[in-house]
Amino acid sequence: MAAAGTPIWGDPRAGEQSPALDGDLQADFCVVGLGGSGLAAVGALLDAGASVAGIDAGPVAGAAAGRNGGFLLAGGSRFHHAAVEAWGRERAVELYRLTLAELDRLEAELGPEIVRRVGSERRPATAEEADDCRAQADALERDGLPAERLDGGSVLVPTDGAVDPYARCRKLAAGAIRRGARLFSGTPALDIRGDEVRTPSGAVACGAVIVAVDGGLERVLPELAGRVRSLRLQMLATAPVERTVEVWPVYYRWGYDYWQQLPDGRIAIGAARDRHEATEWGAAPEPTDAVQADIERVLREEVGVDAPVTHRWAGEVAFTDDGLTLLEEVRSGVIAVGAHNGHGNVLGSAAARAAATKALHNVESALWELLQAQPEVEPEVFVRGGPGT
Ligand SMILES: Cc1cc2nc3c(=O)[nH]c(=O)nc-3n(C[C@H](O)[C@H](O)[C@H](O)COP(=O)(O)OP(=O)(O)OC[C@H]3O[C@@H](n4cnc5c(N)ncnc54)[C@H](O)[C@@H]3O)c2cc1C
Repeated sequence: MAAAGTPIWGDPRAGEQSPALDGDLQADFCVVGLGGSGLAAVGALLDAGASVAGIDAGPVAGAAAGRNGGFLLAGGSRFHHAAVEAWGRERAVELYRLTLAELDRLEAELGPEIVRRVGSERRPATAEEADDCRAQADALERDGLPAERLDGGSVLVPTDGAVDPYARCRKLAAGAIRRGARLFSGTPALDIRGDEVRTPSGAVACGAVIVAVDGGLERVLPELAGRVRSLRLQMLATAPVERTVEVWPVYYRWGYDYWQQLPDGRIAIGAARDRHEATEWGAAPEPTDAVQADIERVLREEVGVDAPVTHRWAGEVAFTDDGLTLLEEVRSGVIAVGAHNGHGNVLGSAAARAAATKALHNVESALWELLQAQPEVEPEVFVRGGPGT
């Protein structure tokens, strides 16, 4: 059994590390946080010919970006019909289309070893949820977005997929270093200003800063406390199962339970966080017995898998009240991107690239505009539970 807290994707703490910052340096831009989002921002800045320094408090992909379920889902944090209700149809459709484009871009950038475009299924657990699946499929079809109806009331989104999230970050980091980015692990930002980021071992002088942090964003930028709240999510994985259990990632029970079978037969599953809200908000990202036992019960009873558990892990994500990813200039020259509401594998990198566009050209892209909070939002609509919330 792997050490507690080690994701099925590999242990970022055991991988090859970038050095820690040692002394002062200068770059056009500094990116704080080297998960999938921060690395997407680094890539976009390099594409524009800028010089980039990237720092991370831990290893690359040491947080949620290397510890997630590996679902690549189009759209925002709400099922499409609920997104239409909460954010307005035009905004929900446009957001969905932009994430479809980001999925295509990720697939082309990362290749078939890392991204499998196998689709994803939302499977209802109850008759009430089956009605909601129908409403979701209706809304997707009405808006010309890809969806199929499966027997049993499921919705299949054929354009969704799965990613190996840690391999993704390793590949992006290696590519960025080859292209001249200076990346540093073990280098926490202590003080962040638009023209300088201070760390315990040196400072980065720069023209602007992108803070790409999901869970714990409110600790890095305390002015976001109250608007952003962090939550622990837990998962486990099994030894290989020889039979085909699933052919694509499955979202079950409003997304609170979610699992996929990896190409080598192992099952990765997260579940039940809605039954443990009291212990998971604001908690350190370590697996706990109570939640792990509940996930294991779902694995045995709902997925029907009895293979031994080999990995247990947790990660931290952040939420906003309106369910929209936070993307804004929070201090002069400091752009924050995070709080992806449990749904950051696709939207996180798209939003981080929008942050780069803003930093480079002071241009607010279509996605930037779409993600700006709206005061009239209705908080009480169905939200996704698992990776999606
Ligand atoms: C168990 C679990 C399952 C999930 N499943 C899915 C899924 O299937 N699909 C999906 O789309 N999303 C899923 N998510 C959410 C998704 O993982 C995240 O939204 C996404 O990975 C966030 O990546 P990121 O790069 O934005 O931020 P993070 O992964 O949070 O990376 C931020 C980085 O910033 C660093 N950092 C923090 N503070 C500082 C500081 N002061 N100085 C320097 N560096 C700092 C951290 O060390 C970290 O490496 C899941 C999350 C979890 C935890």
